[in-house]
Amino acid sequence: MTPPAPPGRVWAHVGQPFEPAAYDVLVIGAGRMGSAAALFLRQLAPEARLLLIEEGGLPNEDGATILAPGVWTLAGLPEAHHAAAHWTREAAQTLGDVSWQARPHVTLHPTPGLGRLPVEEALREHPQSLALLDPAALPWAEVDPQAATYRPGSLALRTAQQAVALGADLLLNTRAALCGGGEVQLERLTVTNTHQIVTHETHRQGAPTVILATGADAPHHAEHALGVHTRHARAYRQMPHLAAPSNDTSPVLRAAGLTLRPQHGAYTLIPPLHWRDPHGYQPAGGQLTGVPTGLRRETLEDLVAQMDELPVLASEALHMGRSLSDVPGAWLALPGGTPAGRPTFEPLDDHTWLLLGGPQADTLGLHTAYKLASTLAQTLGGQTAAL
Ligand code: ADP
Repeated sequence: MTPPAPPGRVWAHVGQPFEPAAYDVLVIGAGRMGSAAALFLRQLAPEARLLLIEEGGLPNEDGATILAPGVWTLAGLPEAHHAAAHWTREAAQTLGDVSWQARPHVTLHPTPGLGRLPVEEALREHPQSLALLDPAALPWAEVDPQAATYRPGSLALRTAQQAVALGADLLLNTRAALCGGGEVQLERLTVTNTHQIVTHETHRQGAPTVILATGADAPHHAEHALGVHTRHARAYRQMPHLAAPSNDTSPVLRAAGLTLRPQHGAYTLIPPLHWRDPHGYQPAGGQLTGVPTGLRRETLEDLVAQMDELPVLASEALHMGRSLSDVPGAWLALPGGTPAGRPTFEPLDDHTWLLLGGPQADTLGLHTAYKLASTLAQTLGGQTAAL
């Protein structure tokens, strides 16, 4: 038996000298997708030398992972993907503390249908939840009793830590840009005493395999740097706070695509994604009866449209803010260019793979990262970069 690899090295700041070395795989982006791909590669191809590169810290404050809803559910998921969802569920729970909490997922409907219960019956044990809605407007409910919530940021942290424990090297505060041919330009970033982020030094690092897991930026980055066309897009998603009481067993509620996710004794609202945001779009706050809000117009329209069904949205409990920075939001990759896109990966050229999470990464992301790792592991055994 081969002895386990020693833990990898971590470069957290520019005071720690870094020199390019021989790596078989570079993973760019330590969000939940990149971190998971790194961990699974360490498990499936332990001979392959791997460097994980992240522009920020761990978990990064920017990016989709830290603000992801963290709702695992089979609701609305075609049967063909249930096995991948269950795989992701098992893996997330065995990776360490990710604040996994079993709670039902309840989809509310105005009309009856197969598998729908009267809403009073579905929410009998949750009067706090029932109080948020008008049962006359949303009388029917569909329950996924197996659903759960968790913290995607903790998941990214745990997977990256375990990848390092199994021998992956980790380079933080470093922005990577693809140069083609398996070459990557690294900019090690630092903060000046006037809080500006500046480049401290640059390096060129090559590897036979590069995984681009930079989230919503990845498709544009790939198109720009490699001149390839992808079908993918991105959208900006805001997640307003709703100060209505919830507890550890409150269900996740969904109505007309809007998700109410119980969190910290209240709710986080996750509005539906209707479209891709065009390149160059800058999110800006909207106006409600002439008053500036931190909610962008599209988000505001969605919430206003649901105020009859969910009267709590028309109350003081909805936190609207005054400018965009008051309402948490993040860019999200849309695999396949649609809001319904599932996590995916694809080769971009002879060296580079694109790995995308997107809106369904909570339920399916780990499985997709694992599939990419096992695809690569088949060739990596024999593919070792020359020192
Ligand atoms: P995903 O759900 O696909 O993991 P995230 O947006 O959460 O998506 O993760 C992408 C990560 O990639 C973020 O942590 C972000 O800081 C990082 N990132 C984005 N661009 C770069 C880059 N050019 N170099 C290194 N890291 C990057």
